[in-house]
Amino acid sequence: MSASLPFFRYHPDPVASGSLREAAETCACCERDRGWIYTATFYTAREVNGRFCPWCIADGSAAERFAGEFADSFGLAGVGDDVLHEVTRRTPGFHAWQDPHWLVHCRTAAAFIGEVGYAELAARPDALDQLRADMRLDGWRDEARIVEFLTRLGSSASAMLFRCTVCGTHVAYVDAS
Ligand SMILES: [Zn+2]
Ligand SMILES: [Zn+2]
Repeated sequence: MSASLPFFRYHPDPVASGSLREAAETCACCERDRGWIYTATFYTAREVNGRFCPWCIADGSAAERFAGEFADSFGLAGVGDDVLHEVTRRTPGFHAWQDPHWLVHCRTAAAFIGEVGYAELAARPDALDQLRADMRLDGWRDEARIVEFLTRLGSSASAMLFRCTVCGTHVAYVDAS
């Protein structure tokens, strides 16, 4: 990742996740070409002519000027207002089939790592165990079907992987088309 990009605590590598990419494009907020542009979600009722540079995301100016948010606050009800605002207004969102939202661990927002399939999940057994537990809670009873579903992640469905910003545990949710 370029050393000159702003650091996002809750989305530490937005280049790897595909949310930021190098482009000669004028930012809709600061109206400058900073060499990088944001490619994922932004929710606003206002009209926005173009996309944002990472600096207008990091300092909150894009969210403030266009009264918008980069991610849904779904799931973040228990975290402090400062964290909620940082995630929804000063952090790049990400590409997903469903509206991107953040996971919570240790009572605060986790950091988004990226969209992953089974191979990447298998390297993080903590996230895999948690997905398995979530599926049981959702009513999946047949362990063989759970395993079958999880091993297929990466094709019709994938997992959104996060890492706890406090204890480092990996957590994930399933994103399906
Ligand atoms: Zn800008
Ligand atoms: Zn934690």
